[in-house]
Amino acid sequence: MRSTSTKIRCRRSPSGRPLRLVKPKKPGAAHCALCGKIMQAIPRRSQAQMAKLSKTEKRPERVYGGVLCAPCTQQIVKEKTRLTTGALLRSEVPITHLKYIQGMKR
Ligand SMILES: [Zn+2]
Repeated sequence: MRSTSTKIRCRRSPSGRPLRLVKPKKPGAAHCALCGKIMQAIPRRSQAQMAKLSKTEKRPERVYGGVLCAPCTQQIVKEKTRLTTGALLRSEVPITHLKYIQGMKR
């Protein structure tokens, strides 16, 4: 049966025989740990190709870069600030956010 997901390249061997080369599949995109959206600025590359990239090419350089998307990180930082100033109660923060708020240094 014909598959739409595998990429097959037809090439000819040096001896003249036709070859069917199967291109390796790309890994899936990274997703945000809170909302599940596809993360921007994280390349879809194999482990070997990822190792060739520099550290800053692999994920954004910010708090929870590569773990949470930008809107979720903004929300976490807001809630953290509001908790420390007392403008927000701990019970008012979503329970899934508490793990990330506790993990922040300041
Ligand atoms: Zn998110």
